[in-house]
Amino acid sequence: MPPKPAPPALRIRGLRKTYKNGVEALQGVDLDVAQGEFYGLLGPNGAGKSTTIGIVTSLVNRSAGSIEVFGVDTENDPGGAKRLIGIVPQELNLNQFEKPLHIVAQQAGYYGIPWREARERAAECLQWMGLWDKRTVMARSLSGGMKRRLMIARALVHGPRLLILDEPTAGVDIEIRRATWELLEQINASGTTIILTTHYLEEAEQLCRRIAIIDRGRIVQDTDTRSLLQQLATETFVLDPVEPIAEIPDLPDFAPRLRADGSIEVEHARGSSLNELFQVLDRAGVRIASMRNKANRLEELFLRLVEHHPEVRP
Ligand code: ADP
Repeated sequence: MPPKPAPPALRIRGLRKTYKNGVEALQGVDLDVAQGEFYGLLGPNGAGKSTTIGIVTSLVNRSAGSIEVFGVDTENDPGGAKRLIGIVPQELNLNQFEKPLHIVAQQAGYYGIPWREARERAAECLQWMGLWDKRTVMARSLSGGMKRRLMIARALVHGPRLLILDEPTAGVDIEIRRATWELLEQINASGTTIILTTHYLEEAEQLCRRIAIIDRGRIVQDTDTRSLLQQLATETFVLDPVEPIAEIPDLPDFAPRLRADGSIEVEHARGSSLNELFQVLDRAGVRIASMRNKANRLEELFLRLVEHHPEVRP
């Protein structure tokens, strides 16, 4: 008999959630996350990301649907499924008056790992997350970035095969964000499947090989990041003229618009040359001092997919 194919790290089928107040947060979510994947779950506020994660991690009850983690059904074997998952919540939920080594080792204890082994594993995770020097200081004295790394160490201590992070870099500065990205890439490279939610599209574009976009309780896109970006037929560029221009040059192929700050916005077909644009501008006597992409490409796509949420800007 041929060997059975490996089950996906996560399989969700027909997931529905109606809260007591009648809000239909999930309206039939299907999702497959392959083993070893780095997967992004994106969507505007209120789309259903936290609800999905809450159900996968058994913190929220589902109304209907099924979930398997590496082939283990989370309803039939919640304990078995939980051992396979590490979760890093969005909010800092550390006991501020405990020490990192204790916090991480104690978490291992919740999974029935004997104390001696728990301490060894905690030490390893703290070393990995660059927190070994801080193992015996009060958690509250750690910087914001260190607290987040501590939460990741805590989530990894029982050796989960799937790590789920809810907005791992929300509200942190760019340096901490980049350091966190590096750690997450290392964790993924070590074989752990990662799913994260984020509203920083740059984060998804940088880290995730596959992206699902959820909107109003439904998956509206689920594809690899590259094909998602290729869906964009055009890119928008902003050109800053050396001298202010009174009138938009005639550029029918580029749909130019004059912005309030005097810059010119143009649409440029992906893959085509920009030379023509500059030649036309040159002929019209418009000299350009600088040029930039209007938005991160994924951001443009995201806004297009969730167009009915004009208030959502990442
Ligand atoms: P996201 O994480 O994408 O921002 P959520 O899963 O938190 O979205 O929310 C999805 C929808 O469910 C929203 O309309 C939200 O207001 C609603 N919701 C979330 N949690 C609760 C709750 N505990 N009780 C009632 N409604 C909720």
